[in-house]
Amino acid sequence: MNRKGFGWFLHSFFALLLTLFVLWVLYSIGVDLSIKTLLFALLIGYIYGLLPDLDEKRSVIHGWLIDLGLLIALVSVFISKEIAVIALVCLLFMRTLRHRRFVHSIIAALIFSAPLALLHWVYALVGFLAYLLHLIMDGTLKLK
Ligand SMILES: [Zn+2]
Repeated sequence: MNRKGFGWFLHSFFALLLTLFVLWVLYSIGVDLSIKTLLFALLIGYIYGLLPDLDEKRSVIHGWLIDLGLLIALVSVFISKEIAVIALVCLLFMRTLRHRRFVHSIIAALIFSAPLALLHWVYALVGFLAYLLHLIMDGTLKLK
């Protein structure tokens, strides 16, 4: 979906609904989560509901990531040239992605969500489910 379409809104809206539902289920079964964890989980759900479209050059998330990558590259030139190079390599890599290929797969959902478990397992769960919801809404639920 692109910026001109309504898709980004639907993806983020339903990702937030799913995230709220997951957090409610966790609360209902007695998982104790702080307000900070709940709010960050909502942010993760929102972002991961859009993340698969990073391979679509006209998408909202692609634009955000390009802006963020350029900002990181620009700022890190003065701090760490290695980080600047990594940011630029990531930006170039994003330009090579083709829409609804690998990034729209369950394996990609796992690869992007798993590192969140280093912060909190709830973030990884919410990120993975929001990512999967995007794939289901796109009709592209495939392993790889
Ligand atoms: Zn998509």
